[in-house]
Amino acid sequence: MNEFAIIQEFFNRGTESDSIVKGIGDDCAVLSPPKGQSIVTSIDTQVLGRHFPEGADADAIAARALRCAASDLAAMGAEPLWFTLALTLPKADRPWLQAFSDGLYQTASQLGIQLIGGDTTAGPLTISIQVLGSALEKSVLLRSGASVGDHIFVSGTLGDGRAGLEAVLGELDCDEQNAAYFQKRYFYPDVRIRMGLLLRYFASSCIDVSDGMLADLNHICEASGVGASIDASKIPMSQELLASVPTSTALEWALTGGDDYQLCFTATEKYAEQLQAQARTRAIDVTWIGTIVEGSGIRDAKTGRSYKYSQAGFSHF
Ligand code: ADP
Ligand code: MG
Repeated sequence: MNEFAIIQEFFNRGTESDSIVKGIGDDCAVLSPPKGQSIVTSIDTQVLGRHFPEGADADAIAARALRCAASDLAAMGAEPLWFTLALTLPKADRPWLQAFSDGLYQTASQLGIQLIGGDTTAGPLTISIQVLGSALEKSVLLRSGASVGDHIFVSGTLGDGRAGLEAVLGELDCDEQNAAYFQKRYFYPDVRIRMGLLLRYFASSCIDVSDGMLADLNHICEASGVGASIDASKIPMSQELLASVPTSTALEWALTGGDDYQLCFTATEKYAEQLQAQARTRAIDVTWIGTIVEGSGIRDAKTGRSYKYSQAGFSHF
C-alpha cells in the first residue's frame, strides 16, 4: 500500500458539515467557519515510547491522541469543529491501520469533530493532531484572566492519569478491576468540552491539566501575574485511586502526575458561589481547591509552604 491507498482506504470516510467546503483530497481543505466566531487552534504530537507504550492497541492510541489534542479546545471554551492528522508509520500494516482509523473515527464522532486532512509519511510511529474549534472572541477562556481573590476549582478527579500510566506499564500493584479502570482513564481521558462551554460564563481563567495540577495552575499564575494558595485536603481523587495506593502517593499523583485532562480554572467570588451551589446538587463535578493570592508560585493554605516548581509536572527537556 502506498500513501495514497492508505489515505483512500482508511482516512477518507467523508464528512458531513456545512462548514467543510472541501475536505480530504485536494491540496488544502477549504473551511467555512461559523459567522462572527473566532477560530481556536492547537497541535499535539504523540511519539511511540513517550506518549504511549510499545504494544498499545492501535484504536486506543488513536483515541488518546485525539482526546489529548481536543482537550485544549475544552480548556479555551471552544466548540470542536475540525482536525488534521499527520501520521508517521514504520510500515503499512492493514489490521493496525484499520483499528487505528476505527478508533479515530469513533472518537471523532463522540467529540463532534471531523477529519479534514493530514499527511502520511514513513518513519518511527508518531501522531500529530491539529484541532480547530470556534468561539466568540469575547468569551474565550485564557490563562491570563485570574485576579487576586478569585477562587480556584478543578473538574472531575485528579491522579488517575498517572495511575493509568503506571497500570499500562504494568508497574501498578492493584486489583484487576482498578487496573482496567486506570488503563481506560489513560487511553480514553475525559475531554471536558461541555464543561469548557459552561465555564465561558463563569471562569476568569482556565487550563487543562496535562502536565500536572501544580504545573498547570502555575501556568495560570504566571500568565495572570498572581500566586495561588491551595488546600491539599480538598484535591478530588477517585475511590479507585484511594483504594489502590497510599494516600500520600495518591495526593502526589493528583498534584504532579499529569495526563488527567480535567480543567483547572478560576472564578470571581460571585461566580464561585454559583458554581459551588451547582456542585452541591451534583449538577456539575467541580471542586473548590484554593484561592488566588498576591505574589507568585503556589503555596499550601495550611502550612504556608511553597510547592517547589521542580516537583510540579512533566517536562520534555
Ligand atoms: P500534498 O502532496 O498536496 O501535500 P498529500 O498527497 O499529502 O497532498 O495528501 C492528499 C490529501 O490527503 C490531502 O487532502 C491531505 O490533507 C489528505 N491526507 C493525507 N494524509 C492524511 C491522513 N493521514 N489523514 C487524513 N487525510 C490525509
Ligand atoms: Mg499539494
